[in-house]
Amino acid sequence: MTVNEVYEIARSALDEHGKKDWSIGFHATKKNIGLCQYDKKRIMFSSYWLPLLNTQDWHNIIKHEVAHALMGPGYGHGKAWRDKAHEIGLNVAEEKWGCGELQTLRDLLNE
Ligand SMILES: [Zn+2]
Repeated sequence: MTVNEVYEIARSALDEHGKKDWSIGFHATKKNIGLCQYDKKRIMFSSYWLPLLNTQDWHNIIKHEVAHALMGPGYGHGKAWRDKAHEIGLNVAEEKWGCGELQTLRDLLNE
């Protein structure tokens, strides 16, 4: 996936779910493949991981952050958030790279 592809998919998802006032950003660090900044009304993605993960992974990562944006702060990855994620088409059980999975990433990177 490219920055533009991730941007377009995330933009469509936010717009579709009534979050037209939210923006999408990118950072280049390994940490936080996906990140939801409620105070800035922004979801962020790591460009570092763009070439390293497959298209399905990116679709899941985008839905994961959109689900955070839709729920608002304070829900973490609890049942209400998982129900919302499921509602927008994310199968949390199949998700490999959610923002709570950084330990898996560190294992992968041997860090
Ligand atoms: Zn998350």
